[in-house]
Amino acid sequence: MSVDISAEPLLDLIPYGEIDPLALSVLAANLQAVLGLPTRVRPDRPLPEDSFIPVRYQYDAVKIVGSLDRERDGARFRMGVIQRDLCIPILTYVYGESQLGGRAAVISLHRLHHIDRQVTFERGAKIAIHEAGHLLGLEHCREPGCLMRFSKQLEQLDLLPMRFCSACEYEIARLLKRAVQNRY
Ligand SMILES: [Zn+2]
Ligand SMILES: [Zn+2]
Repeated sequence: MSVDISAEPLLDLIPYGEIDPLALSVLAANLQAVLGLPTRVRPDRPLPEDSFIPVRYQYDAVKIVGSLDRERDGARFRMGVIQRDLCIPILTYVYGESQLGGRAAVISLHRLHHIDRQVTFERGAKIAIHEAGHLLGLEHCREPGCLMRFSKQLEQLDLLPMRFCSACEYEIARLLKRAVQNRY
């Protein structure tokens, strides 16, 4: 019997707290379609209270990433999804945080709301793909039409097309091949 290992997930999406299942499916579908990263959605788990910062009423992205990184089970890459606000100690808020060339990332859907649900979903997908690019080892890119460009504001994120520049695309193909060979 042969097993198709290409179908094995390379990335686990891990919802913290209650997250709209449709939003999760859209994230997974885009990670697969745009990045070519086989993705599965894991069962949700409680909000990580140990990473809650009461004085800021936010969650510490670095702590969440650290705890996901330490987990032994699961796919090569894991990405937490949280509906609450995320921050890192030196910044007021972040849309996402990830280990460059590492295992774990987290994204927040908290600040992405738009009156048009389609736009909200697209914003989430762009952030998830950008953070997954960092997981693969990609750094920020200066090309105006590339998902690895750093977006400080939602207006900048909204202007990005759902794709990478050709240089990043080339890198992704190379890094994905390496990730498939070195799954765990
Ligand atoms: Zn980035
Ligand atoms: Zn690029």
